[in-house]
Amino acid sequence: MFRSLLIANRGEIAVRIIRTARRLGIRTIAVYSEADRDALHVRLADMAVPIGPAPARDSYLRADRIIDAARAAGAEAIHPGYGFLSEKTELPALCAENGLTWVGPHGKAIAAMGSKIEAKRLATKAGVPVVPGYDGEDQSAARLEAEALRTGLPVMIKASAGGGGKGMRAVAAPETLAEALVSARREAEAAFGDGRLLIEKLITRPRHVEVQVLGDKHGNLVHLFERDCSVQRNNQKLLEEAPAPHLSDATRAALHGHAVRLAAAIGYDSTGTMEFIVDAATEEIFFLEMNTRLQVEHTVTEAITDLDLVEWQLRVAAGEKLGFAQGDITMTGHAIQARLTAERADEGFRPDVGAIALWSPPSDIRVDSGVETGTVVGLAYDSLLAKLIATGTDRAQALEKLGAALDALTVLGPATNRAFLIDALRTRAFAEGRATTRLIAETWPEGWARDKADLVLARRLAALALWLGRAPERRASPWSGLQGFRLLATGATPFSVSADGATALVTVAGGPRHFTLGDADGSVAVEAAAEGTLLTVVIDGTAIACRFAIADGRVAIRARSVEAKFQVLPAAAAALRASSGANAAAGADIVAPMPGLVAEIRVAVGDIVTIGQTIAVLESMKLFTDLKSTCNGQVERILGTPGRTIGAGALIVAITPADTPET
Ligand code: ADP
Ligand code: ADP
Ligand code: MG
Repeated sequence: MFRSLLIANRGEIAVRIIRTARRLGIRTIAVYSEADRDALHVRLADMAVPIGPAPARDSYLRADRIIDAARAAGAEAIHPGYGFLSEKTELPALCAENGLTWVGPHGKAIAAMGSKIEAKRLATKAGVPVVPGYDGEDQSAARLEAEALRTGLPVMIKASAGGGGKGMRAVAAPETLAEALVSARREAEAAFGDGRLLIEKLITRPRHVEVQVLGDKHGNLVHLFERDCSVQRNNQKLLEEAPAPHLSDATRAALHGHAVRLAAAIGYDSTGTMEFIVDAATEEIFFLEMNTRLQVEHTVTEAITDLDLVEWQLRVAAGEKLGFAQGDITMTGHAIQARLTAERADEGFRPDVGAIALWSPPSDIRVDSGVETGTVVGLAYDSLLAKLIATGTDRAQALEKLGAALDALTVLGPATNRAFLIDALRTRAFAEGRATTRLIAETWPEGWARDKADLVLARRLAALALWLGRAPERRASPWSGLQGFRLLATGATPFSVSADGATALVTVAGGPRHFTLGDADGSVAVEAAAEGTLLTVVIDGTAIACRFAIADGRVAIRARSVEAKFQVLPAAAAALRASSGANAAAGADIVAPMPGLVAEIRVAVGDIVTIGQTIAVLESMKLFTDLKSTCNGQVERILGTPGRTIGAGALIVAITPADTPET
């Protein structure tokens, strides 16, 4: 076995590989981009080498820099993880030239299986069924269109070099075919530098079932059973489990047989995965592709086989023989993995970014994570934060544990898919083990939405958290530090709470323990106490443990199912009055509703002003806001100075209202 290993990857998979290497007594060398200087994998490794700027093409995809780093650090082997360079032949070729061990299969297997077109041809030759369609050399638009129609719509257009669900288009209507071919080709060229396309019949209700294989350099080859990864968004997996539920023994045996036969045909000598789709109704099997690397979801296979796949990947790379034969491998229990991503599941799963203000994973199941409190999630890499892997003696128990773990997990900062994952687990189809790849589209045809009541609660508690989270000496009079800020006559403190471009006014009244939180949706009485990041509230006799963090002028909070991040600012009483029409005896003064720059003062001391008249203009985040008088009255004092920056709640112009209040 080699004594030192460079891990040419980042995030959870780098951390996971370091863990096994360390257990085996192998010295670990991390590489990192400028964006990952403070990343967990960098700190955990015995040594870390910088390889360039944040964009992957300038760092994690630079095989030359990785080889330089390996030589400088005295690494004897390189593990590519998944993604990045793992399925390209460049790095293994450079390893060979430099006398380094490549932890992966031989280059010919990578080259053959890196092209879906060639992989399908090899599969067919090995007697493995593939999805009918077109995988020919003629890539002209006319030929592809004709072949799609011959295959019969609906079809799936795919990039031959594709991965990660990119370059794929499902086409059902003939008039959209030409455009889909053009855009799939464009995407394939941009993402993979290879525009070749193939066409497949679209299997309308498939399950994604894949088989883990493992070979050594001595001709031994086994399978490690199958995984079901049917729950997907954008053709990428979200929930994965082993074994596949409700699959006949005959189908499972056929899948294992196909996988081993095809792997043997290419002399496979590492960990790899044969992906299939299985028609949910007929159990007809179709080979999709082979991934010649460690899979994101290898963890569920580890859980049921009690084997460490990274350990065996390292051992076979070092030339060791597999320590077991097919008949020695047994399977016990059931495992389910959920991929936790920094994504807005309520906005078409778009990635979200930001600093993680609080990372609090559950402690009673396996969590493979590359993040921690303080990690900044950026757009340079993919959105996977962590994987939660629950195991049980049976599927029901694993499901139960995963649900509980997702309930216990708290991530504050970037939005995550946590609540969505819980809802997906609890769909009837998944709970029964009968999910197809259509699950998400069929369950949420209009898109998934966050729980409205929990969102309203989170917004109210964000205001309360800010109130409670202030230093104790200021808590008695939270605004003593804010010149000119006035409490409402009722004793309620108004906050403007914004997220996603919408602002709500929330009032916090009472204290120090009993509060009434009010907004346009109504009000609620709560008993509350904050300690550290924990905010405990009792509503109607039920205690709810919330977590919160105040950072970057935002309150990130978790309340029941919802994590959200709000900008919470002390609102000017006038703003409250203007927007809610409340008849509280609010101040007539012109107060900054948000931090900004005083752009203009349009009045002088002694001026008579009328309701609705613009008194001052505030510039904030490139927006100009007219601050208008909420009453008829007279200018008493001017405190704001044009050109000067002020904080939220600062008094700009003091106005004495006329005796008769407006109605
Ligand atoms: P798996 O098949 O192991 O579940 P995914 O398809 O989810 O893997 O992809 C695993 C990781 O690899 C993701 O980070 C994805 O973005 C990345 N990835 C997959 N294929 C490619 C590729 N061809 N080029 C670059 N990154 C890829
Ligand atoms: P990638 O390399 O991006 O992982 P795959 O060929 O593995 O591409 O396909 C990704 C996913 O897309 C599959 O897991 C499946 O859900 C869906 N898919 C692929 N081909 C088809 C098809 N012919 N019919 C229906 N769904 C498909
Ligand atoms: Mg795939």
